[in-house]
Amino acid sequence: MKSFDEYLRDAEQAHGHLCAGQVLGVRLAMLGLQKLGIDDPHGKDRKRLVTFVEIDRCATDAVAVVTGCRLGKRALKFRDWGKMAATFVDVSTGKAIRIAAKESSKALARQLHPEIESKNQQQMLAYREMSDDDLFASQWVRVELPPEEFPGYKGERIVCEQCGEGINFRREVRKGGRVLCQACSGARYYEPL
Ligand SMILES: [Zn+2]
Ligand SMILES: [Zn+2]
Repeated sequence: MKSFDEYLRDAEQAHGHLCAGQVLGVRLAMLGLQKLGIDDPHGKDRKRLVTFVEIDRCATDAVAVVTGCRLGKRALKFRDWGKMAATFVDVSTGKAIRIAAKESSKALARQLHPEIESKNQQQMLAYREMSDDDLFASQWVRVELPPEEFPGYKGERIVCEQCGEGINFRREVRKGGRVLCQACSGARYYEPL
């Protein structure tokens, strides 16, 4: 595993700026990897990890940088829950740990560095200094990962009976005896104009 400062530099580069979220995300991901005993996420352990993120904020980018888990590799899963938390799944052992940033960490940052006016600067420094226990709550969990959720899964491709678009990875919906895509089944996030 790289050092905290090396990961932070990588995260800054990937994210476009350095911010409290990068510090928090790097620490959160490093803690997850440590707990699972994964020390080479970009090398020999690169196929061992699947990561669920629960927020689409700055820290999410840092988690992706440290773990090497990316959406395009099916190794990064997004659950839009608005929570500063991530779950790290070791697919070689089935072990999984969910780590959440404590809500109290912001207040603690204020206490530690009242002299710093900028909240971002204050948290950036405090989140470096605080202990894992002050920053995070962690919990061992079990994550059910069906075969189609694994990176590298290859399955048959199905065509939606309504719109004719192709569907991968068992994401089709069976409704009223028809095979439909998510959109045609009613789960659309857009409205055709
Ligand atoms: Zn940021
Ligand atoms: Zn369709």
